Amino acid sequence: MKNTGRFRDFVQSFTQFIADVGHEEERVFTDGKAFLSELITHDDWLPEQFANPNLERYQQYLLHCDPMERFSVVSFVWAPGQKTPVHDHTVWGMVGVMRGVEFCEEFSLDPTTGRLNAGNTHELTSGGIDFVSPRIGDIHRVSNALGDRPSVSIHIYGANIGAVKRHTYEQPEGHKKTFISGYSNEVIPNIWDRSAGPVAN
Ligand code: FE
Repeated sequence: MKNTGRFRDFVQSFTQFIADVGHEEERVFTDGKAFLSELITHDDWLPEQFANPNLERYQQYLLHCDPMERFSVVSFVWAPGQKTPVHDHTVWGMVGVMRGVEFCEEFSLDPTTGRLNAGNTHELTSGGIDFVSPRIGDIHRVSNALGDRPSVSIHIYGANIGAVKRHTYEQPEGHKKTFISGYSNEVIPNIWDRSAGPVAN
């Protein structure tokens, strides 16, 4: 039995947090990081069906969407060898690795030529958190750094990310294509059955 109460507590706390800070991105990053950090350092709550890799392509499972679509929470699952295209987000995002290791490659568009420039690369190990946004750098490619098992990360975005019109980029010309990612799942985790845990007051 998964500790779904942990994710329920996170959803409630983060909803209150966003109600307080709104879209003040710097505060979302500086103060909101602690909520994600707490969630990913306790790997006991994610139901298995939202951590399952698919050998065809990487998975993005919606775990929660704020009713006002102010934020969404998604689990990304990469099988060995899988990677995203080079893509942007157009809204703020926090990426926290919960299992395995992810390899992150940053890119930027040259303002004069429009070409895609490769930037820094780094590995994100379990417990590590990355930030993306149009303000601080929004274009990257993420892949599973492990050749023998899946990696799983938990992402929070400042919108219903699966419904956001954003872009993939071709290297090196930087040609961009609009896409809407959607989600891999049709049902979301039931975090509201409290019968298995302590009874709410
Ligand atoms: Fe991304």
